[in-house]
Amino acid sequence: MGKKLVIVTCITCPQSCAIELVKTKDDYEVSGNKCKKGKEYAIQEVTNPMRSITTTVKTIFKDFPRLPVKTDKEIPLNDTFLFMEEINSVLVKERLKPGDIVLKGIRNMDINLVATFGL
Ligand code: SF4
Repeated sequence: MGKKLVIVTCITCPQSCAIELVKTKDDYEVSGNKCKKGKEYAIQEVTNPMRSITTTVKTIFKDFPRLPVKTDKEIPLNDTFLFMEEINSVLVKERLKPGDIVLKGIRNMDINLVATFGL
């Protein structure tokens, strides 16, 4: 039986290396990456992919009913729905500027939701 090959495009920098991973008994054989960051990214991507959440939340302001926001750290991709449940319950009641914290400690973790636009 052949070894399973996975190809991941590294998004860490604009070079966008196509990285090949082959699972070994205890690790991965990695090729195609031009630097070590690519190896770390590719292994993370196949074992526990991480993403930032970028979305909008409701506000009380008629002139600006939705505020663009993002998480200030990446979260496990598989937990996106759990994070969105909490984010969807947010109602912004004060005028904010970009970078202000909208929701602190999402899911009791050291991850905040911040405004990416001013109200
Ligand atoms: S492997 Fe290195 S050089 Fe290639 S895209 Fe990733 S960070 Fe950039």
